[in-house]
Amino acid sequence: MTPAVRTESVPSPADEGDAPCVRVGPSVRMPTSHGMFQLSAFIESRTGVEHLAIHCGDLSVPGVLVRVHSECFTGDIIGSLRCDCGPQLHKALDRIAAEGLGVVIYMRGHEGRGIGLIDKLRAYALQDQGMDTVDANLALGHPVDARRYEAAAAILQHLGARSVRLMSNNPLKLLALREQGLEVVAREPHEAGEHPENAAYLGTKRDRLGHLLGHPVAD
Ligand SMILES: [Zn+2]
Repeated sequence: MTPAVRTESVPSPADEGDAPCVRVGPSVRMPTSHGMFQLSAFIESRTGVEHLAIHCGDLSVPGVLVRVHSECFTGDIIGSLRCDCGPQLHKALDRIAAEGLGVVIYMRGHEGRGIGLIDKLRAYALQDQGMDTVDANLALGHPVDARRYEAAAAILQHLGARSVRLMSNNPLKLLALREQGLEVVAREPHEAGEHPENAAYLGTKRDRLGHLLGHPVAD
């Protein structure tokens, strides 16, 4: 027998009244090595991409800890040292578990800053020939950063998170979420996973993408 499918839909905070931004999927108890979480699934209406929220506690508490994490198969799953994604994901889950309150929004479809896994691997090949991560994306005909955040904002709204502390080193992500109607009251520096293999990559993120790495806290 086919299980019933919930069809509740959520607009993005910035587009209230427009077409629903995400549909609400199942939510299940998720014990992990980091601690006990709830895992909630969402389907982005525009793309059909399935996003996830890993959360615990009452997210309506002001200043709740949030990480909007871009999917990275290589970093998150096989422990790639070419980037810092895996350690950042696990650090976020540890910090939320320690506070007993917060959420990681796991954004599928954000591989390689939104260019997809296959082109991310093509970009890696270009980087092995001497390009940096910015020029590699451009050489493949992509924007430097193709990620969109309407779904993340809609998911946070659905979960009751209105006022958040964002775990991120990327000021542009903070601005993008504010543009989506989210109240970001603070940025929590979130450095993890530095390694000689990713030193050039992190340097490019700092010097060409404005990431706040190795600097004093700016806000
Ligand atoms: Zn990564």
